[in-house]
Amino acid sequence: MKYISTRSKIEPINSAEAILQGLAEDGGLFVPENIPKVSLEEIGTLQAKNYEQRAVWLLKKFLTDYTEDELGECAELAYNWFDVEKRVPLIVLIQDPKNPVAPVGSLELWHGPTSAFKDVALQMLPHLMRMALKKVGETKEILILVATSGDTGKAALAGFADVPQTKVMVFYPDGGVSKIQRLQMITQRGSNVNVTAVRGNFDDAQTGVKKIFGDENLRVELDKLNVKLSSANSINWGRLVPQIVYYFSGYVELVSTNQIKPGDEIIISVPTGNFGNILAAYYALKMGLPVKRLICASNVNNVLTEFFATGTYNRNREFFKTITPSMDILISSNLERLLYHESGGDYEQINRYMSELNSVGEYKIDKTLKERLDKIFYAEYVTEDETRLFIKRMYDSFKYLMDTHTAVSIAALSKYRGKTHDFTPVLSASTASPYKFTGAVLTALGQSIDGVDDLAQLKMLNKLTSVRIPKNLASLSTAEILHEDVCDKDDMPERVLKFAEK
Ligand SMILES: *Cc1c(COP(=O)(O)O)cnc(C)c1O
Repeated sequence: MKYISTRSKIEPINSAEAILQGLAEDGGLFVPENIPKVSLEEIGTLQAKNYEQRAVWLLKKFLTDYTEDELGECAELAYNWFDVEKRVPLIVLIQDPKNPVAPVGSLELWHGPTSAFKDVALQMLPHLMRMALKKVGETKEILILVATSGDTGKAALAGFADVPQTKVMVFYPDGGVSKIQRLQMITQRGSNVNVTAVRGNFDDAQTGVKKIFGDENLRVELDKLNVKLSSANSINWGRLVPQIVYYFSGYVELVSTNQIKPGDEIIISVPTGNFGNILAAYYALKMGLPVKRLICASNVNNVLTEFFATGTYNRNREFFKTITPSMDILISSNLERLLYHESGGDYEQINRYMSELNSVGEYKIDKTLKERLDKIFYAEYVTEDETRLFIKRMYDSFKYLMDTHTAVSIAALSKYRGKTHDFTPVLSASTASPYKFTGAVLTALGQSIDGVDDLAQLKMLNKLTSVRIPKNLASLSTAEILHEDVCDKDDMPERVLKFAEK
């Protein structure tokens, strides 16, 4: 399997190179030349496999330049840190006695070391990168730079910690992340990690990192140290491909718990930000997983809802900070891959759309493409009140405790069912532990959190619900603080150089 760009005709490359490059030189995203097909029979064979084996089965279809042993090693190293045997368990929520085909399975993607769904991919990517370095004969050490507004930073640190031939450095806005997010980062162990606070907001940190990538002098200095910069953001193919696995796995779990029969169609609902998670579901559908429809669930930053309704993507709009911060996004980068595939690989068209998005902040897709998307997607957005309402409702009805992002998916699904009366069984992506967004969850449950700090809120929610606090969060209050550096944004390049010298 070779990889090409969404924006121009390039010489196809192997997956190892695509993973190391991240972004194509023309600014496009790497996509597989074709999407492999699987039969129902083959999906059935997953029943007997554990999660790691399911991952290998899927990965080897896309990462054909890796051996099965290598992929097996990646899967073991990635998922042995997940704190449940199933890795990505399925919790069946709704079984309406009047309507026996209406189950909703909550696919819990957050049992990894940082309690957020980003772990599923970021635990795997470092090992794919490390092996890719060998494959292409790269002897330099790679230094992963991350600017974070909270969750991605910790997931990247946990993923890259102590992975040979890599280093990871995270910049976060000083005072701009939650107490728990900060503690998660500054207590990170590992001989190859650095965490530095930047005086300023998230944009300052992000702009600083972008500048570093374009800093020619720094590149030369790093070159002398045999170090090369790289990133681990969600457009990297190596982050996307591990996400396809859990949709197949979730389907198989629905079958093995007798919620559906092999071959039955399902609906997949995904709380969407950068369009990575739902794009993975799209790949699963294209490969042959029986999926009737994908529900793209958004918060009030509803740029995608409008796009799927009208065919116009317009990022010129007010930006809202919400209780679902991981979905507060106006440019969903991975959408480009969907448009590429559904336009039949029309890279000239995609190039035009993306340059319009860049220059005027808006593009409109043509009618044929719009009609194709209509057949696959249903988009809906949810207000903050609705999000809180569904947290409370699902807890009261099923004693199922959801984080805010997960609740957006369930609430959007409920709107879909209300409008369409389509009660097809559902897989709904659950993207964070409720303990990652404790304040909003407690508020939704009617509790007052005035004067209760983040760590005390963990205990409060646990007392109220008896739901177990994930180990990594429970141990935060006693974990040793290892990273207390703070710098000005102009000093970021110097800090990078200093860390590279270590
Ligand atoms: C990143 C994230 C999302 C959004 O996923 P995308 O792949 O960016 O669409 C949703 N929920 C949580 C908790 C996240 O961390």
